[in-house]
Amino acid sequence: MAPSRVAIVTGAARGIGAAIAKRLAQDGFAVGVLDLVEDNCKDTVAAIQAAGGKALATGADVSNAEQVTAAVTRAADELGPPTVLVNNAGILRDNLIFKMSEDDWDLVLGVHLRGAFLMTREVQKYQTEQGWGRIINLSSTSALGNRGQVNYSAAKAGMQGFTKTLAIELGKFGVTANAIAPGFIETDMTAATAARVGVEFEQFKQGAAAAIPVRRIGQPEDIAAMASFFASDEAGFVSGQVIYVAGGPQD
Ligand code: NAP
Repeated sequence: MAPSRVAIVTGAARGIGAAIAKRLAQDGFAVGVLDLVEDNCKDTVAAIQAAGGKALATGADVSNAEQVTAAVTRAADELGPPTVLVNNAGILRDNLIFKMSEDDWDLVLGVHLRGAFLMTREVQKYQTEQGWGRIINLSSTSALGNRGQVNYSAAKAGMQGFTKTLAIELGKFGVTANAIAPGFIETDMTAATAARVGVEFEQFKQGAAAAIPVRRIGQPEDIAAMASFFASDEAGFVSGQVIYVAGGPQD
């Protein structure tokens, strides 16, 4: 059993992060709900508290080292030492390579990779002290390549190598690291992609569902269920894995 049942979920104001935060709270974790703007975390925190759970809203840009240290320290002070970390915060800045700016490259790699690195460097101190920890990183099916996403696919493939190395380095401290690679999940992120390509979201979702073996798109709760397993005690012998949660196999 985790000595300290405290989790931090980044990008937890909405979408997949919010669903993971709520699910981990149901599983008995006090949850640090972290997002860019503290105020935006209110709905997730309120939902957790309404269900009888414990949560704290914290604002931080995961790619900013000072803000990360301050947010993690505050969560540790107010909730207890964090043992579960979910690196979920993410952004898209899609474009074909010949039109992609350096800023859009740097921003996407900054939030996903630098953000996951900074958060993990901070939280692993508590995990290794406790001798128990779970790191769960959000990759994507885009890691395998996706038109218009050289920055995002590089970041999401990077998350997989990052995960495997964490598993190797931290295993002896009782810390596992695994990645979830979602396929199409219904969130503001996929709604924004539909808007960018000029397709109505309902039609976009139907088109995506038709190409998925289980014939539906994913919901944030599908990803939360996987995160719940990776965060559990019984997942202690599973580490360095990438699980595609995409309604079918990936190449
Ligand atoms: P979303 O609805 O766009 O939510 C992302 C959250 O991350 C937002 O609340 C956002 O805050 C926050 N965030 C962005 N930059 C941040 C930063 N620098 N520091 C802290 N928080 C930040 O996205 P989602 O669809 O739930 O995706 C969650 C994760 O799953 C992402 O890593 C994404 O790449 C991955 N994923 C999603 C899908 C999908 O189909 N939806 C598929 C594969 C992988 P703001 O609102 O303030 O921007």
